[in-house]
Amino acid sequence: MKALVIEDTVTSATLVCHQLQKMGLEPLHARDGEAGIEAFKQHKPDLVLLDIIMPGIDGFEVARRIRQMERNGEWTPIIFLSARTSDTDLEKGIEVGGDDYLIKPVSEVVLAAKVRAMQRIAQMRYSLVVLTRRLDEANQELKRLSSVDGLTGIANRRRMDDVLAKEWRRAARIGEPISMLLIDVDFFKQFNDNYGHQVGDECLRAVARTLDSGVQRPGDLVARFGGEEFAVLLPQTDLAGACQVAEGLRGAIEGLGITHRHSEVARTVTISIGVSSGLPKPESAGPDGLVEAADKALYAAKRSGRNRVSAFESGAPEK
Ligand code: GH3
Ligand code: MG
Ligand code: MG
Ligand code: MG
Repeated sequence: MKALVIEDTVTSATLVCHQLQKMGLEPLHARDGEAGIEAFKQHKPDLVLLDIIMPGIDGFEVARRIRQMERNGEWTPIIFLSARTSDTDLEKGIEVGGDDYLIKPVSEVVLAAKVRAMQRIAQMRYSLVVLTRRLDEANQELKRLSSVDGLTGIANRRRMDDVLAKEWRRAARIGEPISMLLIDVDFFKQFNDNYGHQVGDECLRAVARTLDSGVQRPGDLVARFGGEEFAVLLPQTDLAGACQVAEGLRGAIEGLGITHRHSEVARTVTISIGVSSGLPKPESAGPDGLVEAADKALYAAKRSGRNRVSAFESGAPEK
């Protein structure tokens, strides 16, 4: 541990440095305020012992500058060592950033006790800083987990809801259409029942990966909506464009060629997609209608044979 002694009186400085050394600290001596500030910058001491009356800038000003130099969250204990005994000097010392104020000559015992107390506070403070950093990291991880689906690693429904609400408002503001796809794996219960839940999970991961890499634009979002259902949000995309994307995704899943002997519509895993599109207005309701319309379209796709895309226009302005 380094302790910086800023003191112009050499005898006093020598004595204090000697005492610090006996406490197991590494003393550094600066002969005036300017030199003290330089030494502080260069050596980053763990403790500063600071005289008040010095040629050039005085101890009060040195303390003030040290506090200004410290970045957010940094703190080096400063103990004033002064021949001045008045309360107002002590008050000022604390006000400019000092942590303690001792009157010279300081007894070795008192100095040792004060230094120990400061070390203890510094240690506790350091633990707190470390703890806070860990907490920040944990919070970030929590935030990430709260928006990611655990099984597939793509966005979850919560994230989709958030983004949908935001994109809906944005679409209203800029007067652009917004589209939504709801996707459901065909005969997936049969798949699970026959191949087992683990193979089912693996299949959902493959489907998620394929859907996720099947959309191109930066604003597009693919999420697991729950179970074997997925949702895709396509900002600034009209119904025709959304149907094109949907058809591409349907083909991509078919192209995976995951064997499904128990499907009634194909020999492989397929998906049905409901497409909806809307042109939100600032005064119109939220995006629920868009999701409902996609859901209706999905139902229609299922009813009319599965492994297909069905579309539904929604959210059109009433006015
Ligand atoms: P449809 O073509 O009408 O969609 O028929 P389906 O069998 O896919 O529909 P249903 O909703 O009846 O079945 C969904 C099945 O998806 C139920 C369950 O076996 C399976 N499933 C849902 N979530 C998971 C999951 O997280 N992992 C696995 N392995 N299977 C899941
Ligand atoms: Mg002095
Ligand atoms: Mg389903
Ligand atoms: Mg299904």
